[in-house]
Amino acid sequence: MNRMETSKPIGGVWVFGDYRNYFQNRVTLQLIAKGKELAGKLDTKITVILLGEQIHQFAMEYVAHGADVVMAAEHPELKEYDVETYATVLSRWVEAFKPEILLAGATSFGREFFPRLAKRLRTGLSADCVELEMDPESCLLIQTTPAFGGDLLADVVTPNHRPQMATVHPGVFRELPHNAEAVGRIVYPDVGPLPDPRVRVVRSRRQRTRNVNVEDAPVVIAGGRGLGSKRSFDMLFELAELLEGEVGATRPAILAGWAEEERLLGQTGKTVKAKLVISIGTSGALQYTTGIQGAETVIAINRDPHAPIFRIADLGLIGDATVLVPMLLEALRKRL
Ligand SMILES: Cc1cc2nc3c(=O)[nH]c(=O)nc-3n(C[C@H](O)[C@H](O)[C@H](O)COP(=O)(O)OP(=O)(O)OC[C@H]3O[C@@H](n4cnc5c(N)ncnc54)[C@H](O)[C@@H]3O)c2cc1C
Repeated sequence: MNRMETSKPIGGVWVFGDYRNYFQNRVTLQLIAKGKELAGKLDTKITVILLGEQIHQFAMEYVAHGADVVMAAEHPELKEYDVETYATVLSRWVEAFKPEILLAGATSFGREFFPRLAKRLRTGLSADCVELEMDPESCLLIQTTPAFGGDLLADVVTPNHRPQMATVHPGVFRELPHNAEAVGRIVYPDVGPLPDPRVRVVRSRRQRTRNVNVEDAPVVIAGGRGLGSKRSFDMLFELAELLEGEVGATRPAILAGWAEEERLLGQTGKTVKAKLVISIGTSGALQYTTGIQGAETVIAINRDPHAPIFRIADLGLIGDATVLVPMLLEALRKRL
């Protein structure tokens, strides 16, 4: 472990280490993997920024997942996530060490924290990116993000200001495997005086929810408005059980109360990396398909032969879901 001189530039590609729910929320690890690839193209290093108290174990984890450097701020005042305090420390470090690129997961905190930070640093920010690439000629970061309500994907660059900042949708990139032999530097730069927080967390309690893990399920049965009723939608739970998978849903199905919010797939929901997604009664809006495009195989069921979902499906069944799903269930019950 090294102490670091504040004057020594670190630069390169930085990722904000969001370690809350470490074992469920893998977006930081996914960004380290992507950031490492980008850093390689810029011939620089991937650095993870870690703020909190008793965070050394997370620093070690980030090194094991590919970080070259971890810059850690260890301070009791940083124990609770607080946008103002975190923005103060991070903006100081950005000004001192001048990273080229600064990334965070589009988690609830990242979405609140990064716009403030970008404003302070007088630079741009692309929110909820679904792809990041380096332009080989200009060496600018191409930040691909849904635009105009998600109907288009826009490539955004930040040519004149630094750092180039983006939040990235969880599940878009794959994390590197844990390597206990990996070597990295963990440094503790000066945090400086912290502002008096205007909000103090008195107590926090973990919300009790049933553990729904759509992101890691090998099979996802995704249902949309086309199922027509909660009763029809409920068939998907049996289908998922028979195929040892999980149920996902589009926004209208969630709004209708057919499934819980944590099953939402897409731009504002989860991204799956399943071997198989069966997408039933979904039109195939871009905001939804963003969440399933990483699946190995997509089978779509829709009664409209022109539904856009068929453009991304490997196999399409044209027909009424309320007829086809019971047939599928019956066939599976006999086979399994
Ligand atoms: C900023 C923004 C973010 C968004 N984020 C998300 C997101 O994260 N996730 C998300 O899902 N949506 C999101 N949306 C909404 C998204 O644009 C679509 O409206 C939504 O995905 C459509 O859901 P759907 O396919 O279930 O419904 P619909 O578009 O209404 O499609 C229903 C489909 O079912 C078919 N159908 C009807 N009856 C049957 C039947 N009996 N059998 C078979 N097929 C049938 C129809 O032909 C139709 O294609 C977002 C929108 C915006 C503006």
